[in-house]
Amino acid sequence: MSRQTRAIIHPQALQHNFARLQPSLPSRAIAVIKADAYGHGAVTVATALSDLCTCFAVAICDEVRPLRDAGITQPVVVLEGPHDMQDCQMAKASNSILVVHNTVQLDWLTTLPASQRPEVWLKVDSGMHRLGFSVDDAIALLASHEWLTEQPCVLVTHFACADEPDNPFNTAQFDAFNRIAAATNLPVCVANSAATLTHPDQWGAWCRLGIGMYGASPLANKTAAQLELQAAMTLQAEVIGLHNVKKGESVGYSQSWKAPRDSVIATVGIGYADGYPRHCPTGTPVVIRGHRAPLVGRVSMDMITIDVTDIPDVALQDTVELWGRQLPVDEVAQCAGTISYELTTRVSTRVPRTVE
Ligand code: PLP
Repeated sequence: MSRQTRAIIHPQALQHNFARLQPSLPSRAIAVIKADAYGHGAVTVATALSDLCTCFAVAICDEVRPLRDAGITQPVVVLEGPHDMQDCQMAKASNSILVVHNTVQLDWLTTLPASQRPEVWLKVDSGMHRLGFSVDDAIALLASHEWLTEQPCVLVTHFACADEPDNPFNTAQFDAFNRIAAATNLPVCVANSAATLTHPDQWGAWCRLGIGMYGASPLANKTAAQLELQAAMTLQAEVIGLHNVKKGESVGYSQSWKAPRDSVIATVGIGYADGYPRHCPTGTPVVIRGHRAPLVGRVSMDMITIDVTDIPDVALQDTVELWGRQLPVDEVAQCAGTISYELTTRVSTRVPRTVE
C-alpha cells in the first residue's frame, strides 16, 4: 500500500456550488478551470460540470489540449489570449475563444485569413491596470478593426476588489466599463465569483466562476458555510509516527516548539513538498478522529507534527484532514497568511487526486 496522502475531489460539491452561484439570468456562467482547475484537476472538474456548463475558461492556450483529449467539447475561453502566432493558428480548430488584451495579439489575429480566425473577445482595462485596452483605446480599436464586431465579440473586464462588496472602487470600475458597453452595445463578461454573489442580476451575458465553485468563500466578510458552498477538495494524509514527549522537550526543526506539558505527538505524512504551506504556524488546525488538533513546530518537506494529547485513541494510520469537508480551506489559508486559491493550486503532483 502506498502513502495515503491524497486530494479527494467531490464532483457533487462542484455541481452544487455551480448551481448555487449561477446568477439569475441573463448571465451564463463560465467555469474557470485554469491552473488545472485551481489544483482540482481540469478534466475532472470539466467532466463533473459538463452537463451544467456551456463554456469553460483557462489562462493559456496550452491548457485547452488536455480538455479536448479527454473529450470535453464546450468552447474554452483563453483569458490571457494568444502568446504567439501559433496559438492564434491553433485556436479555431480547438474551439477556443481568445481574449485579446494587447496590440501585438490583435496584429497576429488581424493578419490571419478570416476563415482561420477563432472567436475573439476584447479585454478592457476598467481600472485594475493588469491586462486590457483602456476604454477609449478599445472603442477606437473596435472602429478600426471591423472584423472584431463582425464576429461574436464580447467585452471582458475584471474587478480588483470584488471580494469587498462595499469597496467604492467596484462602482468606479463598473461605471468606467459601462461607458464602452453602452457605446458599443456588445455583450459583456464582467463578474467573478464574488461579484456574482453580491449582485447576481447585474452582469450581462456572461460571468466567470472560479473560487466559489471550488467551495471556498470569495468574500472577505463571509464564510463558505454562510454562503452555502461545499468544499470540492478534501486533502488527507495519515499518521505515520507517534511519540510521547516530556514537558520541555522540543519537536522538529530548529526546536521551534517545546512541549508545555507531557504530550503525545503524531507525525503526519504530508509536508511542503506536497503543497501543505510551510508558513502554517503552530496552532494551525487539522482534523483527526473528528476532533481538531493543532500543528506544532515547523512544517517539514514531507511531514508535519500535531499535538494529539487531548484526543483519545490516536493510532498509526489514522486519517488526518488538512482541509476540506471538516475544515474550511479558507481557515488554513488564513493561518498561512495567504488565500485559498494558493493552497489548492499548490497541491503538488506527488499527491494523487481521487474522485469521490
Ligand atoms: N476572471 C479572471 C480574469 C480571473 O483571473 C479569475 C481568477 O483568477 C476569475 C475570473 C475567477 O475569479 P474567482 O476565482 O475569484 O471567481
